[in-house]
Order: sequence, then structure tokens, then C-alpha cells
Amino acid sequence: MQERDESQRSVKTQEKELAKKLKFANNSGFQAELRRRVDELFQNGNLKERDCPQMYTKTAILLLGFFGTYAVLVLLAQSWWQVGILCIVLGVITAGIGFSIQHDGAHHAYSNSLWVNKLMAMSLDVIGGSSYIWHWKHDVLHHTYVNIAGYDMDLEVGIFGRLSPAHAHLPFHRWQHYYLWLLYGLLAIKWHFYDDFYCLITGKIGDRPYPRPKRSNLAIFFVGKGIFLSLVFGIPLLLHSFGQVFASYVLVAVTLGIVLSVVFQLAHVVEEANFPVAKACVIENDWAIHQIETTVNFSRNNPYVTWLLGGLNFQVEHHLFPNICHINYPEVSKVVEQTCQEFGVRYNQHGSVWAGFRSHFRWLRRMGTCKSL
Ligand SMILES: [Zn+2]
Repeated sequence: MQERDESQRSVKTQEKELAKKLKFANNSGFQAELRRRVDELFQNGNLKERDCPQMYTKTAILLLGFFGTYAVLVLLAQSWWQVGILCIVLGVITAGIGFSIQHDGAHHAYSNSLWVNKLMAMSLDVIGGSSYIWHWKHDVLHHTYVNIAGYDMDLEVGIFGRLSPAHAHLPFHRWQHYYLWLLYGLLAIKWHFYDDFYCLITGKIGDRPYPRPKRSNLAIFFVGKGIFLSLVFGIPLLLHSFGQVFASYVLVAVTLGIVLSVVFQLAHVVEEANFPVAKACVIENDWAIHQIETTVNFSRNNPYVTWLLGGLNFQVEHHLFPNICHINYPEVSKVVEQTCQEFGVRYNQHGSVWAGFRSHFRWLRRMGTCKSL
């Protein structure tokens, strides 16, 4: 027990170390009032911050859907069109597992129990990514420094694209609003076979060093990759040719890559989001206002989108309260929107997925054509 507390404390110290280079402006009072109102919502309403029964039901549905679709694909599918449809469905369900189960677990939003959260976070290792590297890349760097170039690695696509005004403009970026969609399709394949291994070998996520994994983290990393490769290649190759298995993997992974990229980009890389630059290592806004002004909700009134995306269409609420289970975001969002109105903070949202999609397209075109921005 004492060892676990020590290890928790050491992880928190490492997170602070990584974060201390940039500072946010002093708390304006907005954050405290918002927290008070959200606490009140949970005290007075019939809501639970974590361990929500709907979340356990959802986990069962997604896992059954995943293994059921996988079994039908590997054991029963006969024709190319059956394989094609099943691969696309499997890609979408895999994204759903990431958005809902893994993401909530990684943020300690799934349960009050540490080991339940850890177990849910480790679902990422089974579907191809490392939960350890994700923690530092997403929970720490992305969540703290949303839309700050050089810190938020979700903005970095190398020389291929210019997502933030802080990035250098290259002549071919003028076509990025067309070609980046193709690269989005490769995101999952690159993640599965390059990104995690590169971060592990170099000890860096982008330019930012992160704490080296302990032996137990390494064991989870390699066992996870082993299970993933067995599911993707090992088992299917016992029954099918390499060409068939490879083509099926590519179709699942491209579907997954497109769904993941679009959901990430609609939340932060759109016209309504801010891309702040730190002056003398200080960010102009306090932490909560920074999160809101760099984040955009979409399709809040569509329960099907909310279910499948694990509440990631409520990214404003997710960024403000990452350790509250996403099942609660629709209710929390009413409080956040009202408080923003009262404090004069801009609450960004698009009415539909399509509206967000168009805004992302226009932002890419603007970044690709206006060098001065
Ligand atoms: Zn998150």
C-alpha cells in the first residue's frame, strides 16, 4: 500500500516536472465557481461522477461487438463485400472502445477504483496502442497544453501539414485541406508500428522527454503488442492467405484512423478554437478559460453521436473535468454553458458533425494559404 502511494506520488511529481515550463495566468475565479456548481449538480442530482451503471453496460456492448464482429470476420465471412463491411464495422467499434472504455479509464473517470481504471486504460494495449505512452502524450501534454504548438503533440503532423499559426508554412500546404484526409487514414497504422516504438526507444514524445517506463510498464507494452499482433495477423493467418489478412487489417486500420483523426480535429483544429502562444513562458488565460477557448463541442443534441464517441463531442466538458465519467457530460454541459455566459467566456460549439467537419476543412485551407496567420 505504502509502495503504491509512493509510486503515485512519484508519477504526480514527474507530471509536474514535465508541466512546469509553462505557466497559466492566475485563476480568475471562474474555475472555482464552475467547480462549485458542478459539485452541486452531483450532490443534488441523481448522478454519479464515476462507476456509472450505463458505463458498465456500454463496455459489455462494445466488447461483445468487437469480439463478435472479429469472430464472424475471421471464421464465417466468405465474400469480399462481407469482409469489407465487417472490417469497416470493426474499425468503428475499435474507435468506440478507445473513445469510451480506454479514454475514461486513462483519465480515472471510469471508476473510483484505481485497478478498474488501469484495466480499462489497458484496453488500448489490446487494440494496438500503448497505454503508458498515451498517458504522457494525451493525459499530460495534450490536456495541459491544448493547442500550444510544441507542447500539444496532437497538433504535430511533421512537415505534412500546418495545423497551427505557430507552425512554419511550406508551399505545398496550400493543398493540405485535400491531401491531409488521406494521411488521417494512416494514423492508426503509424501508431501501431512506428509511433509507440519510436517514443519508447528515444524516450521522447515529439521533442518532450517523458519518464522512462518501469519494468511493469514495459511488460504491459510488449504483452499488449503481442496480443494485438496475434489478433491482427497470428490467428487470421491460420485460416486465410497473407494477402487477405493484410488487406483486411489495412481496411480496419484506415477506418479507425479516419474516425480517430476526425474526432480529434473537430474538437480543436477548427476556426472557432484559439491557438495561444506563451509569452515569456506564461499563457495569457487561466487554465480553465484556456481549455474552453481552445476546444469546440459538436452535435451536443445527438445521443447516438455522444454514445459512440464516448462524449468526445463534449470536449469542452471533457477538458474541464477529465476525471468525470463521460456519461454525465450532457448534464454538466448545461452548467458550463450557463457559467460561461455569466462570466463572458466564449463557449464554442457546432450544431452537427457536418458543421464541425466543414469548419475543420476551412481552417486547414486558411492555414495552408495564409502564411501570415
Ligand atoms: Zn482526454
